[in-house]
Amino acid sequence: MDYEVIILGSGPAGLTAALYTGRAALSTLVIQGLMAGGQLTTTTLVENYPGFPEGIQGPELVVCMHKQAENYGAQFVQEDATSIDLSTRPFSVSVGKKTYRAEALIISTGASPRLLGLESEEKLMGHGVSTCATCDGFFFRDKEITMVGGGDSAMEESFFLSRLVSQVYIVHRRDQLRASKIMQERAFKNEKIQFIWNTVVRDIRDPEAGEVTGVLLENLKEDKLWEKSCDGLFIAIGHIPNTQLFEGLLEMDENGYIITHNGTQTNIPGVFAAGDVQDHAYRQAVTATGSGCMAALDAQRFLEFEKAR
Ligand code: NAP
Repeated sequence: MDYEVIILGSGPAGLTAALYTGRAALSTLVIQGLMAGGQLTTTTLVENYPGFPEGIQGPELVVCMHKQAENYGAQFVQEDATSIDLSTRPFSVSVGKKTYRAEALIISTGASPRLLGLESEEKLMGHGVSTCATCDGFFFRDKEITMVGGGDSAMEESFFLSRLVSQVYIVHRRDQLRASKIMQERAFKNEKIQFIWNTVVRDIRDPEAGEVTGVLLENLKEDKLWEKSCDGLFIAIGHIPNTQLFEGLLEMDENGYIITHNGTQTNIPGVFAAGDVQDHAYRQAVTATGSGCMAALDAQRFLEFEKAR
């Protein structure tokens, strides 16, 4: 099936791009991905998205953005793209056995949570190990949990969990947090949150039991290993861009983020990138929506220019 624009990804960047291309009367398909809505769907209250003085729930914000894009004609497929051909225009994007084609592509596939890379983590994911407090916090009511990370995400997830669990231990590899000052102050004041500094998680107990019973920690300053019991482990150590599908096709930096220039343009004319997939610095909902808008305008100008040629 042919469209003027295909958008890959349905977080704030993709949905804003779809709103703009829809309103420009460009036929638009959004390949949402299996995790439709992106990272906003796994947050709670978003307090820093302008226009909502009391804040808005992340999932609600995404639903509103989706409806708004749909109202202006965007069509949606809720699956992951499986392969892509950027060698000729129209570009082709396959979703299983179906292939869609478009003259312009906007890539807004976002980023996924970074993991520790432990075998026990893989085995216990969903069985006491989680990357989403909002999704899984409920299962840990009145229990003790360990959180890994020292950024805003680790703090935000810990605040959320502190309302449910009996104690949150934040394990951080340094003795200083990366989180913003306001988040740090809130965390230090929270009686349910304690910090374990200069420490990393070396293993998670107990895959044999099929549940989390504790963690093996290493204090990097004292070169000391020790066991700590807990009922769950939450990991909030940043993200990796979802760019595997574009490896070898699009220019990326050393961390796999797509490189853009002149706004949202990639190294292939007609292919644009927006949101966290090309932004490792700001990573906010509001910056993602802004770059989604830019990508739609860039795509629109590209298509007009090509038509006039
Ligand atoms: P981040 O700022 O990159 O922080 C990641 C944290 O994980 C850092 O403390 C890092 O340690 C640690 N880390 C990384 N790899 C690790 C590993 N392999 N083992 C142990 N620790 C590891 O990521 P983020 O917290 O997800 O935040 C991303 C962006 O979103 C930031 O710009 C943040 O401000 C923003 N954000 C804002 C809000 C809010 O305002 N409400 C909420 C969430 C996120 P080091 O510090 O030693 O590098």
